Order: sequence, then structure tokens, then C-alpha cells
Amino acid sequence: MSRIYNFSAGPAILPEEVLKKAGEEALDWHGSGMSVMEMSHRGKEFISIAAQAEADLRSLMNVPANYKILFLQGGATGQFAAVPMNLLRGKKKADYVNTGQWSKKAIAEAKKYCEVTVVASSEQTKFTSVPPLDTWQLSKNAAYVHYTSNETIGGVEFNWVPEVSDVPLVCDMSSNILSRPIDVSKFGLIYAGAQKNIGPAGLTVVIVREDLMGDALPGTPTIFDYKIQAENDSMYNTPPTYAIYIAGLVFQWLKKEGGLEAIEQRNIRKAKLLYDLIEASSLYQSPVAKECRSRMNVPFTLKKPELDEQFLKEAKEHGLVQLKGHRSVGGMRASIYNAMPYEGVVALCDFMRDFEARNS
Ligand SMILES: *Cc1c(COP(=O)(O)O)cnc(C)c1O
Repeated sequence: MSRIYNFSAGPAILPEEVLKKAGEEALDWHGSGMSVMEMSHRGKEFISIAAQAEADLRSLMNVPANYKILFLQGGATGQFAAVPMNLLRGKKKADYVNTGQWSKKAIAEAKKYCEVTVVASSEQTKFTSVPPLDTWQLSKNAAYVHYTSNETIGGVEFNWVPEVSDVPLVCDMSSNILSRPIDVSKFGLIYAGAQKNIGPAGLTVVIVREDLMGDALPGTPTIFDYKIQAENDSMYNTPPTYAIYIAGLVFQWLKKEGGLEAIEQRNIRKAKLLYDLIEASSLYQSPVAKECRSRMNVPFTLKKPELDEQFLKEAKEHGLVQLKGHRSVGGMRASIYNAMPYEGVVALCDFMRDFEARNS
């Protein structure tokens, strides 16, 4: 059996060790005689799996005690609605920062529930940068401020956390959560679909400050009511049990790798390899402003787009797959999440250098 290097933006690569362990435990989890997939979510085995996953995530991200961690479903897209439903709390307005495709989707969904003010946008730069904080026109009466810390499609990442005084800061961290240490206490709420940097699709992680819960809009579906989910340990209904289990294995792997400080250092080295190559190249180019190039998703184009198909075909022959860029950006995109080994990026860079030498 040989594994390829998978640069997919999501669902994405998982650590090989995690997949091996899941394989070993597939028929009999810890002497239970069952697969985790077959367990009751009310049974002591699964309750221990979920509690351990939560504790490990709490320690990895240093989540303060006054925050709840919820394991939900519905994806980050579900949260585009759940956030206004839960956080408006009697207010009528929310502030959003628009840095690309995922911000736009969050904004469009929030407009169903409230008046949205786009307080800053990088649309003029075709979403190749992030708007500096001193240009944000924050509203007086907004219930919260929402931004997207990493635009998965555009490859644009905030390398700073906005200071927005008393207004709860809400962040869609789907594609860079766990890639670096962050100060959770600066946020009112963080959410992330699991399939980029946490685990398999089907699980959505929400980290929410306790005082923001308990005043959801009338009509909020019960499964999206943070307070009710928190009171029920995210098990108001059947949770995505297997996805929680795999995410738990990923958290243990991250701890073993040295936690988020160590992972960040590795992510910096991986991204630097690729961006340095692109900078030095006369074939490849990055559309993104230097100071906000994503460490997780690296879009790049070929100056000779007629070579795109050839590039993808040969990359695949070298075991480097899922490099085609998003249709809205074109070119290529290499997603190099936590689970992408350093060697995978080296292999991609070797191929890219060789391809350029043969095609210049
Ligand atoms: C993938 C992604 C989403 C959408 O996630 P779903 O789980 O498919 O709903 C939202 N925001 C960002 C930043 C993403 O990368």
C-alpha cells in the first residue's frame, strides 16, 4: 500500500498515525468488542471518548473555564445561521468583515436574521489582502463582529487578532484552527468545520463564552441553541460519534507532536518552503499580498496557464494530488494543513522546481 500526498482543501489529509490507530481499533475499541461507530452515544465508552476529546482540545487551545466547547453538526455553514440566531440577544445589527468567499457566505446568511454592516472589505484588492484594523468602521450598536481568520479559497490569513473592545469577536476558524496558538479569551465565539484541520467531515466545533448563551432568537432550532447543547454535553440529539472519536485521536496526536507552539513552527517552515520557491520562480506566482499569505492554503498560478493541465497530470504521476485551484481563483492551490508532513511539501517543491526547469 502506498499513500499519496493529498493537498485537498477539505475534506483533507489526516495524520497517518491517526488513521492507523483507527484501523487497529476498528473492530474492537479498547476491549469493548465494538467499533466506535456501533456505540450508543449514551454509553460509558462513548461518553469517555467525547469527554477526553473535549479535555484535550481545551488543553491544546488553552480554553478558559468560562467557555463551553460544543461538538455540533451542520458544518461551518450551519454556524453562519446559528451565530446570529444565538448572539443577537435582542440587538438588530451585526458587523462583518469581508475578506473573500467564505466571509461573503457568512454575510449572506446573517442577512436573513439581522441588519449586517460590512465594516471592512478587501474586495477592491480582489480579496488578496486583509483590511487593516484602523480602516474598520465598527458600528455603535452591533451585537458582535464577525471575521474569517483564514480564507480557504483565496489563501488569505490574518496573522493578528483584531481588538474590538467590548463587542464580542466571532471568528470562522474553519481552515486555520489548531495551526498556531491563539488567545481564546479575546473571542466571544470561535467555530470551525472539522474537515480542514481537525478531523473528518460531519463535526463542527464551537467554542463559546458562557455569558453569550441563553438568549437565542425565538424559532432557533433546538440543535442550534448553544445553551441547550451545552446543558446536554452536545448530546441533545445523536452527535457525530465517529467524527468526534477521530478528532479526539487528532488532538492526542497534536499533543504528542508538542502542542500548538511546535505545530506552528512546523507550519511556518512548510509554508516558507513553498512561498520561497514561488518568489524565486519565473513560472509560478502568488496572487496574495506577502504579509497575509496563508500558512494553510497556498494558491498559485502558472504564468503559462496553457501548462496547467500538464502540471496537474504530472503532479499526480508523482503522487501529489488535489492541487487544482478553486474555480473562482484558477491555477493551483496546495493546502498544507497540520497533517501534511514536511516531506510532503518537500516532494511538492522538488516536483515544481523540476517542472519549471523542463518548461521554461
Ligand atoms: C470549508 C469552510 C466553510 C464551510 O464549511 P462546511 O463545513 O462545508 O459548512 C466555511 N468557512 C471556511 C473558512 C471554510 O474553510
